[in-house]
Amino acid sequence: MKPLHIVQGGIDNGDKDFLEKASRKGLDAPIWVVPKSSIPGDDVVIYVTGFGFFATAVLNSSPQPRKDWHNRYGAGLTSISLIEPSISLATIRRKIPGLTWAIYPRSITTPDANIAAKIHQIINQRRKTGLPDLDDKALSESNIDELRKVAVMKSTKTATTKEQKVIYRARSVAIKFYVLTRANGVCEGCKKPAPFLRLDGTPYLEPHHTLKLADDGPDHPKHVIALCPNCHSKAHYAADGEAFNKRLIKTLTQLEAEYSD
Ligand SMILES: [Zn+2]
Repeated sequence: MKPLHIVQGGIDNGDKDFLEKASRKGLDAPIWVVPKSSIPGDDVVIYVTGFGFFATAVLNSSPQPRKDWHNRYGAGLTSISLIEPSISLATIRRKIPGLTWAIYPRSITTPDANIAAKIHQIINQRRKTGLPDLDDKALSESNIDELRKVAVMKSTKTATTKEQKVIYRARSVAIKFYVLTRANGVCEGCKKPAPFLRLDGTPYLEPHHTLKLADDGPDHPKHVIALCPNCHSKAHYAADGEAFNKRLIKTLTQLEAEYSD
């Protein structure tokens, strides 16, 4: 089997945006930091902090020393392809406990063939299903891409009653975690930081459903907003609660503008 290298991609430096564009338009990356030992034709998986395994690619040139970066080697990447949704670090740790790199994933590395096979396996599975694991524990550790995928998941006509129940529950749980992740500790109503932290250290915000559901089906991320307790009470009980709720609906349209579902 060909070697597989885990390499890094940033968000602030534009790597993530580039990978999305490159995958869509079939562009190559002229230079990417790779292990010195890699050779053209080798596979790479690109890790992006906060997202996890984000894209795959193939090396198409020999590593050259970087003039601007001591002891680093750069090579070209081709066949850049996103993993959708990206595979969260928690999933990587759970599915491949032997991958010690994942304890502190800041470096580039070339895992052994056995681990590489497992990485290929979870990427193939992710590309086939388009979904992470659906249990509460897995969802609580999922990244925002995974959560949104589950939150908008549709039940199929062939799903059994039991499967429908699993999907319904997973969607409800995913929507909650999704809006809290989207809010990133800041109330989406008043834009102030969450008033306190939970026991587990996460900021305390409450998911608020801006629409009254016509049926009792699970809600959609574009109708749910993360609020501080003050804003949440305001939406429900204030004299101008209805007007406030309308403002929240407008805010949600902006927050969710990049999605078409
Ligand atoms: Zn608020």
